Amino acid sequence: MSEVTQTFRPGLERVAAYRAGKPAPVGPDGRSIKLSSNENPYPPLPAVVARLAEVLPHSISRYPSIAAEELTGALAARFDVAADNIALGAGSVEVAAQLIHALTAPGDEVMFAWRSFEAYPILVRVAGAVPVEVPLDAEHRHDLPAMAAAITDRTRLVFVCNPNNPTGTVVTAAELEAFMALVPRDVLVVVDEAYVHFDRAAESPSGIDFFRRFPNIAVLHTFSKAYGLAGLRVGYAIAPTDVAEALRKVAIPFAVSRLAQEAAVASLAAEAELDARVEDMVAERARLTAALLAAGVPAVPSEANFVWLPVGDGAAGVAAALEERGISARAFAGEGVRVSIGDPTENDAVIGAAAAIAAAATPR
Ligand SMILES: *Cc1c(COP(=O)(O)O)cnc(C)c1O
Repeated sequence: MSEVTQTFRPGLERVAAYRAGKPAPVGPDGRSIKLSSNENPYPPLPAVVARLAEVLPHSISRYPSIAAEELTGALAARFDVAADNIALGAGSVEVAAQLIHALTAPGDEVMFAWRSFEAYPILVRVAGAVPVEVPLDAEHRHDLPAMAAAITDRTRLVFVCNPNNPTGTVVTAAELEAFMALVPRDVLVVVDEAYVHFDRAAESPSGIDFFRRFPNIAVLHTFSKAYGLAGLRVGYAIAPTDVAEALRKVAIPFAVSRLAQEAAVASLAAEAELDARVEDMVAERARLTAALLAAGVPAVPSEANFVWLPVGDGAAGVAAALEERGISARAFAGEGVRVSIGDPTENDAVIGAAAAIAAAATPR
C-alpha cells in the first residue's frame, strides 16, 4: 500500500513556526528567571484574581458572549470611541491576523519594519499575502521614509510597531504625521501599541489621536504586557467602523473566553494600581540599562518593558552567559538579544551578569 500524503497549501512550506521565548533554565542558585517573552513579572492584581475566582464556577461550561458587551463598553468609554470601533481577539496577535485576513487577497502585500514583532511575517504568509520587510535604520528605529517609498499598489496594510519589539525604539508624532501624508488612504496603517504604557518619550505619537485624525489608522492594544494577562489571551483593535466590522466577521467565534473578558474589565477598573507597577518597571528599565552600559554592554535606550542588546554575532554567547545564571532571554542569531524587564531581584541577576555579557558581546 502506498503511503498517503496530503497536499498542503502552496507557500505553507515557507511559514516558520512561531518561536516562543524559552522557559528559563535553572541557575546555580536554583533560581529560574524567565526574561524571554516580555511578560509582566507581577501576578495579576488582587481585584482581578478576586473577580476571576467569583466567575470561575459559572464561566467554564458556557460559551462566552461573542459581543463581549461589557468589555467593549468599558473600552469604548475608556478611549471615548464608539463600541463599533472596537474589535476583540484572543490576544492582539489574533487581531493582527484578523486584519490581514480581512484586508488582503492572495499576493497582496503587508509591510512592516524588520526586525520587528516576529509574528508579523508568519501571520502574513499564513494568510497567503506577501510580507514586505523594510530594514530598521542605523539607530534600530523604523525607517518611515523608506517604508513610504516601498508602498506599491499591492500594499494593503502597514504595521508600525511602536514601541518596536524587539528594539524598544519609537517613532515621533512628527515622523508618523509625515508618513501618513504619503500613505494612500486605501492602505490601512496599523499602529501596534502592545508596549505603549511603558513609553515615556515626549515626542511619541498617541495611536488613538492618529486614529481620530486619519480615516486609515487602526490601533492594536493588548492586555498581555502592562496588564499582566498574557495567559488569558485578550487584545483589541480600535479601528474605523467598516474595518472593525470586517474584523468581527473573520474572528474565530468564542475565541475570547469569559474569564479573559472579566479579567480585562477588572483590569481597566484598576488602571491606577497597574500604572504604579508600570512606573516601577520603567524605573527598573532605566536602572538596568544604565548598569549594562556602564559595564560596556551595548544597550539601546528602550521605551518598552525590555532592552535590546545589539551584539550581532555575540548573540548566542550572550544568551549562553545568561543561561548559565538561570536567565532566559530572547536571542536572535547574528543580531542581538532582547532581555525583558523583570522584578528588581531578577534585574539584579542580569546586572550581576553584565561583565559576562560584555565579554560575550561582539558589537558590530
Ligand atoms: C506581545 C505583543 C503583542 C500581543 O500579544 P498578545 O498576547 O497576542 O496580545 C502584539 N504586538 C507586539 C509587538 C507584541 O510584542
